[in-house]
Amino acid sequence: MEKKKRTICIDFDGVLHDYSNGFEKDVFGEMIPGADIATKVLKNAGNTIIIYTTRPATDALKNWLKDHNIVYDYINENPDQPKDSEGCKIMADIYIDDRNITFHGTWDKWFLHTIGEFKPWAKPKKDLKKDMEQGYKEGDIWRMGQEKRTHHGDLSCG
Ligand SMILES: [Mg+2]
Repeated sequence: MEKKKRTICIDFDGVLHDYSNGFEKDVFGEMIPGADIATKVLKNAGNTIIIYTTRPATDALKNWLKDHNIVYDYINENPDQPKDSEGCKIMADIYIDDRNITFHGTWDKWFLHTIGEFKPWAKPKKDLKKDMEQGYKEGDIWRMGQEKRTHHGDLSCG
């Protein structure tokens, strides 16, 4: 059976490129490994790829995507969107984002806990630097690292 062709919105920051150069207009970090191959595979499977980002679709952004062989159809628009769906949200079957929590149909305390504990996987380097400096000031950078590992363990059990 042929797989359904879907529209897939893919975030840019923290999904296609990392935050290694911070967040400024037309300043980008390194491509996240595999982003080029993954978008090519998804496109070759017949899906529509939309880059869905808070960034404007500047020439610099388009050049970065081209230089890194990111395969896509549109940036911040879905021309196939029905006219009665003209809100700000772009219509898609799947949204891939580093700041997303999947809703599974239940607003329970575990879901609220997940929201409360949520952190994107990547932070701008300057934030990491600030965290490190804070750790050194407090003199317990090693203990902070330990807490992080414990924290991840808690999440995987929850
Ligand atoms: Mg992002």
